[in-house]
Amino acid sequence: MRSEAAPQPGGLERFASPGKGRGLRARRRYAVGELLFDCPAYTAVLAVGERGSHCDGCFARKEGLSKCGRCKQAFYCDVECQKEDWPMHKLECSAMCAFGQNWNPSETVRLTARILAKQKTHPEKTQSEKLLAVKEFESHLDKLDNEKRELIQNDIAALHHFYSKHMEFPDNAALVVLFAQVNCNGFTIEDEELSHLGSAIFPDVALMNHSCCPNVIVTYKGTLAEVRAVREIEPGEEVFTSYIDLLYPTEDRNERLKDSYFFSCDCRECTTKEKDEEKLKIRKLNDPPSAETVRDMIKYARNVIEGFRRAKHYKSPSELLEICELSLDKMGAVFEDSNVYMLHMMYQAMGVCLYMQDWEGALRYGQKIIRPYSQHYPAYSLNVASMWLKLGRLHMALENRPAGVKALKRAIAIMEVAHGKDHPYISEIKKELEDH
Ligand SMILES: [Zn+2]
Ligand SMILES: [Zn+2]
Ligand SMILES: [Zn+2]
Repeated sequence: MRSEAAPQPGGLERFASPGKGRGLRARRRYAVGELLFDCPAYTAVLAVGERGSHCDGCFARKEGLSKCGRCKQAFYCDVECQKEDWPMHKLECSAMCAFGQNWNPSETVRLTARILAKQKTHPEKTQSEKLLAVKEFESHLDKLDNEKRELIQNDIAALHHFYSKHMEFPDNAALVVLFAQVNCNGFTIEDEELSHLGSAIFPDVALMNHSCCPNVIVTYKGTLAEVRAVREIEPGEEVFTSYIDLLYPTEDRNERLKDSYFFSCDCRECTTKEKDEEKLKIRKLNDPPSAETVRDMIKYARNVIEGFRRAKHYKSPSELLEICELSLDKMGAVFEDSNVYMLHMMYQAMGVCLYMQDWEGALRYGQKIIRPYSQHYPAYSLNVASMWLKLGRLHMALENRPAGVKALKRAIAIMEVAHGKDHPYISEIKKELEDH
């Protein structure tokens, strides 16, 4: 049931954005919270870890999904979802049985296999390509360094290894282009708490350029992407989304944009750098740290963040928590608690606590994070909404209903704009408010 009328891309147009290549432009005014357009996934793949809790076909989250009788590893709402997903699932169904424990292609490889299959079965333009076709995706091939080329060759090898039984492949050069296109145009789908659910291709959504002060946000309803205004948009204005986490200071954001998308940003935030000082806030001490001490601590913080990202794959939760606490101690000598590097490690610590079902521990970190988060992020942010949501659910679990209600209402206020008032996530939160 949809209360919003299906939006026509009529109020929007593709255009040549000065200095940015092609982009998307508004032809009329859009109010905050208004749906600009939606885009069904060209193809999508559910993360292996989410099997059983979400439908492999439509990504719906529900209990009592039924198993694929052949591989017993994919789960569906019903026969209809299973039937519809079969052209994609058959690429993996028998291979998963044959490879057993050794079946481990990355999500990028799984998604790319689905694109190749879709291009075969559906060569004509799809409903997801009203403004931009998959074939037109930018690859930035000329900007790939040796390291990136090597990673792509590994992906190509995995594609041949795990999918050759059911597919014919284009030659190596064409596959390099396709993987490069997927790397800069693919989307990850997250749930309302920003947990990773899977990866997908949304061609029309990929037309939008990036800004660190975006005027739209992309959310997901199953495998449907929806794009809503989070600022008023005037006729003739370009429509911008954000490709990255906006918590970090200008230099970090641009490093990330260069590395993943091969450009640097010239938005207002990047030009004025007006939030950087707050984001890198230094502790007020009688004997203030020297510029060199601050520089060294920033370097240390970036190393810890990178080290922790890798450590997540092989260290135990208690070891991870120790890394967080040690680094927070060390950085805390120079950085204020609201400093984004402190917040980053607190967020990681909160994640470990949630994983260990240490609700009090998670709540302690979350309460320190939420205020500075609301300052650093734009007014409507999924990061802020999901933090309120986690806090609300933690309070409810710990029987602090007044605090829980307050936090959940803060989450809903943001989500009504970003997700739309009738989103199933919002109905679920409202139900949590009534049940308690
Ligand atoms: Zn389903
Ligand atoms: Zn199967
Ligand atoms: Zn920017």
